[in-house]
Amino acid sequence: MAGGARIPPNPPQHCRYHLDTSYLIPLLLGRNPSEPIGAGGEAVAQVDELARAGRGAAASMIAVGEAFQEIVTQPTVFDSAPGYPAPSQKLVELLRERRLTVCWAGHAGGYGGQRFLELADGVRSAAPGVGLADILIVTCALACRTTERLYTRDRRLIQNSELRTYCRRRRPAWEIVEAP
Ligand SMILES: [Zn+2]
Repeated sequence: MAGGARIPPNPPQHCRYHLDTSYLIPLLLGRNPSEPIGAGGEAVAQVDELARAGRGAAASMIAVGEAFQEIVTQPTVFDSAPGYPAPSQKLVELLRERRLTVCWAGHAGGYGGQRFLELADGVRSAAPGVGLADILIVTCALACRTTERLYTRDRRLIQNSELRTYCRRRRPAWEIVEAP
């Protein structure tokens, strides 16, 4: 990871909801990359609120990887807010302050890997045309037994009735939503 920041061990906190890459990036940068530096900040305040300590915000390992890939490949677009720590340092802070948990395959142990792949296959069939990273982000949030919802701004996921039906069949109370 850039800057040599050391990732602290995952805090013993339940993932109650997952943030997708579009929510994770403002948390890492202190700004919304679609707005000029210094503008608005409503989206950032919204994400900050989501990730308040102890509320159970989580991001899948896939979302973390995708966020850093975007930040690293387009440094001028994904620049941190003035006075904000570097994204890798900010991630460490969020984990240390228990404002974020990194969720890997819903913490599936034992035969969980098989379950994760079966779920991923179902999600992929229900959402043709959606990219692999998004499929895995949805699957991780669905596989995590303590997670109630996935926050995303992606309309292809939110408005996909086939995907919603598939997820409800697996987890009746689980949902994909845009706003908190
Ligand atoms: Zn989890």
